[in-house]
Amino acid sequence: MARSISYVTGAQLVSLKRRPNIAIIDVRDDERSHDGHIAGSLHYASGNFYEKISNLVQDVKGKDTLVFHCVLSQVRGPSCARKFANYLEEAKEDTGIKDILILERGFSGWESSGRPVCHCTSVPCKGETGSA
Ligand SMILES: [Zn+2]
Repeated sequence: MARSISYVTGAQLVSLKRRPNIAIIDVRDDERSHDGHIAGSLHYASGNFYEKISNLVQDVKGKDTLVFHCVLSQVRGPSCARKFANYLEEAKEDTGIKDILILERGFSGWESSGRPVCHCTSVPCKGETGSA
């Protein structure tokens, strides 16, 4: 029984983000440091995604919806989302995660639609609390 992975648009993500049980996972590599990021997103670079996957499972404890993205969400985002879904399937651990989603058009689409970009350097990002 393969877990299905679907896409969400930026607009859908804006409303999903209001819920406390969602985690956004940015899988870009170095681009995150200069281009900014979606407020509150976690950073798990695609380059060593698989090595860190158990940390990610810990980080998203209590969340039921995960949204993956990279720059365009064409290669790295979907591939990490799939790795994560496969990992959960093999681990057979009850993580409570119901939905694994991919942000359509990625960070680039998010930014070009004029949605807010956070430029903080905190790891993890503290989210929207201090943003203008
Ligand atoms: Zn931030």
